[in-house]
Amino acid sequence: GKTVGVLALQGGVSEHAELLCSLGADVVLVKKASHLEGSDALVLPGGESSTIDRLTRILGLRDALIDAISGGLPTLGTCAGLIMLSREITDPAPGQQSLGLLNVTVDRNAFGSQVASAETVLDWKSPSSKSHPVKAAFIRAPRIVSAGEGVDVTARYNGEIVGARQGNLLGISFHPELCGETAVHEELLGLMK
Ligand code: GLN
Repeated sequence: GKTVGVLALQGGVSEHAELLCSLGADVVLVKKASHLEGSDALVLPGGESSTIDRLTRILGLRDALIDAISGGLPTLGTCAGLIMLSREITDPAPGQQSLGLLNVTVDRNAFGSQVASAETVLDWKSPSSKSHPVKAAFIRAPRIVSAGEGVDVTARYNGEIVGARQGNLLGISFHPELCGETAVHEELLGLMK
């Protein structure tokens, strides 16, 4: 079987783990650097990106994440996980850093408060350039303000970029795992060697 790590420091970890199990993957909850060693792919879940960032540094995971992901580990970042992957954050919390791997700029709280959250269906551009619908929940969601060199836009919501693909990286503003939507995770599994 194939093993997928789910970064398990804070946030919506269990929903990703359950979805990946339902797709036949073995799941490892990544809480320290050594947990990355057996992973064939990685999910960075939603939550609070400034907290997840701080914990990666306290627990000595930051450099291991950067090494593994920049070394080609297929990685999906959702919501706070997208913020973690991004090259630049327009409105970081004090001292907040991102991993700087996905060539996008994100606005952390672009879609408003928890109350302003929404569930919808988006048009998702697959690697073959064909589109298919994906169910998506937005919860205090970030927006991709700009996508740079090498980045494919995979989804938009009200005209704003909410999905991006760059080589082994997928970054999305929304939560498919809260809607029973498996397509984006299946795409991640398809990137594994
Ligand atoms: N806005 C949150 C942040 O800054 C992300 C919200 C989410 O992951 N649901 O991390």
